Amino acid sequence: MADRVTCSFCGQLTCGGLRIYGEVICAACEERLARLEVEDEDYEQWLACLRTLWTKWLNEN
Ligand SMILES: [Zn+2]
Repeated sequence: MADRVTCSFCGQLTCGGLRIYGEVICAACEERLARLEVEDEDYEQWLACLRTLWTKWLNEN
């Protein structure tokens, strides 16, 4: 049985999901990120989320 964890991007509860350095990205967000284009309206929002995570990871290393 997989743990129910909260996605670091959308905040939805997800089972399993992609784990990167303790952060969880649900399947929906992973798919969205894979299709993200610079001209997308929400591109900046996604980028801001990623920057937040990156900063966290860099600080932990
Ligand atoms: Zn998500």
